[in-house]
Amino acid sequence: MFVLKSLNDSISVLPGVGPKKMVALNKLNINTIADLLGAYPFRYEDFATRKLSEVSDQQKVALKGTVASEPVISRFGRKKNRLNFRLLIEHDVIMVTFFNQAYLAKQVETGKSLAVYGKWDAKRQSLTGIKILAAAADDELGGVYRSSKEIKQSQVKKLVAEAFKEYQELIVDLIPEKLRHKYRLMSRKEMIRNIHFPDNQKIAKLARRTGVFEEFFLFQVKMQYLKRHSRIKNGIQIKYDLQKLRSFIAGLPFTLTPAQKRVVNEICYDLHHKYHMNRLLQGDVGSGKTIVAAIALYAAVTAGFQAALMVPTEILAQQHAEKFVQLFKGLDVNLVLLTSATASKAKQRRELLKNLENGQIDIVIGTHALIQDDVNFAKIGIVVTDEQHRFGVSQRQVLRQKGKSPDVLMMTATPIPRTLALTAYGEMEVSTIDELPKGRKIIKTFWLKNSQLAQAYSFIQKQLKEHAQAYIVSPLIAESEMMDLKNAEEVYAKTKKLFEPQYHVGLLHGKMSSDEKRQIMAAFKDHQIDVLVSTTVIEVGVDVTNATVMMILDAERFGLAQLHQLRGRVGRGERQSYCLLLADPKNEYGVARMKVMVQTNDGFMIAQKDLELRGQGDILGSKQAGMPEFKLGDPVADLNVLQVAQKEAAQVVNNPAFDDSQNKDPLFKYVKHSLSTGMSFD
Ligand code: ADP
Ligand code: MG
Repeated sequence: MFVLKSLNDSISVLPGVGPKKMVALNKLNINTIADLLGAYPFRYEDFATRKLSEVSDQQKVALKGTVASEPVISRFGRKKNRLNFRLLIEHDVIMVTFFNQAYLAKQVETGKSLAVYGKWDAKRQSLTGIKILAAAADDELGGVYRSSKEIKQSQVKKLVAEAFKEYQELIVDLIPEKLRHKYRLMSRKEMIRNIHFPDNQKIAKLARRTGVFEEFFLFQVKMQYLKRHSRIKNGIQIKYDLQKLRSFIAGLPFTLTPAQKRVVNEICYDLHHKYHMNRLLQGDVGSGKTIVAAIALYAAVTAGFQAALMVPTEILAQQHAEKFVQLFKGLDVNLVLLTSATASKAKQRRELLKNLENGQIDIVIGTHALIQDDVNFAKIGIVVTDEQHRFGVSQRQVLRQKGKSPDVLMMTATPIPRTLALTAYGEMEVSTIDELPKGRKIIKTFWLKNSQLAQAYSFIQKQLKEHAQAYIVSPLIAESEMMDLKNAEEVYAKTKKLFEPQYHVGLLHGKMSSDEKRQIMAAFKDHQIDVLVSTTVIEVGVDVTNATVMMILDAERFGLAQLHQLRGRVGRGERQSYCLLLADPKNEYGVARMKVMVQTNDGFMIAQKDLELRGQGDILGSKQAGMPEFKLGDPVADLNVLQVAQKEAAQVVNNPAFDDSQNKDPLFKYVKHSLSTGMSFD
């Protein structure tokens, strides 16, 4: 029988992959032959045999010698055993020990030459064996694969070898020949072969180089293709009422900064045109993004559309809703709040959903509750997300799919260096608010030792005397919300003891119901509470202008981005504000973070420092900035490759011939295929 093979074949075509293994592989995100070939080893074991003199203690190495004693098996405990034999390496005799692999004994014959991979113990002159290397295979490197309880990595490796053998002829090049030549890259087939089965370090490195380029290049081609498409494809045209918009802006309690005006214009231009807006609004904490969002939402409403604002926390949703109700007072705008708190009141929720669907509601503000399946709009025109970096790449697509391609505006205060922004948000246009409203003073930041806590408290007291308010953020215990709470309660008790009855102290934490949270926040805003003790729930967005002190306990536990966000809760008005960092950092990195905070208020600078301090390959750091994850490439360490790939991708995409449906180029087919299956957004 003649069967047409394809790289999209299910892995079940491989010998030995039954239903059970299939599930195990699927869990590792391996569904097709292509997935399997793309499941690169995450590191290599070095099997090149070494001289004893060059091996250091506890190093994993391959040693080759002659078996110098009969293997001895000793059994101990239940089901445990140890296999021992001596190995003669030039003039030295060492002991080799394998645990619970007694079956290896039959491969160990006195006088026979043998290579063993294991961990070297210099003091005992012994090697704890990991595996016996086949004499025939003289590969110097062995790939180590992601595996699981259900499927061992040696099995994954075997399947990769099988798949490569059977399917290698089908591997076509995606990078255009011209570029492969220009940057001296391997063919795709050679790259895949040498990433999985390299003969030596050098070839493995070269293969990785090609792989990194390919990964960045394909990503960029997809992103830029999307971006180009959203510009040409028919979106909706939001013909806002300019008169209404002007008088709304004129009625604000302040005048917009030049930067705010510029971004408002950029957004309005997009709204008015017949393509999808897909725009990122970057601006440091306190730069005034909220009002820009309000203007965009209102613009859509004046054109007869509905508008949505999605935020990451309930507190923030409530705050925005309250603020917007004020802003839109006297205007014909019907605004509602939809959070998980609304969701718990079934009847109210049903009513609300009905009104969204029949178009009676103009603006909805909410949390993740907005992207539930049963939320539908009559005529959604624009979707805005605040604190965008808190949402995953896929979530930002979901809201978009809610309506007939609404315009999308994403706001973030976590600025990332320009080069990286192009990667993280490659499919978007970027607007930047690069100045703070007039009259803002630099927040004075002090780093104090824990032993200076009393001084910090008396500093707060002085500010309270001048009718200002303060935040105290209790230590963050990443592993446990319960511990967070316990800490916050302790700090609360202590603060009360110090300040009450003269001043009021409040407590805010994540375990409170949203009603409780709202009440506390409202009391703080109305100045019924002078000092608010809180866990990090107040981290994003919260806006109380009369607060002038932010004290952060155990500040060394927070990352730079988070510290900057927390500090941004003060300095939001014209009063001089202060940030007190209480910290006894235990390492250099912690000290460096405190110093950066003291030195600068500039979010872009802080982001850059953060990147430098974290160093290369910190996936956590990239994740927080909303960066996509790459298998091989590291956007920081491989930045130059990223930039080249970006430039070349633009060349390819901007060629009109590329987007011709008759285009037979495998690269074009690949882009179409992966965008249609949504792969790029996982
Ligand atoms: P962020 O960009 O961090 O979301 P907000 O939108 O919360 O900042 O704005 C911070 C504070 O600055 C708010 O109290 C807001 O009312 C105020 N604000 C915004 N724009 C201006 C402006 N042009 N002039 C004066 N104050 C402003
Ligand atoms: Mg904000």
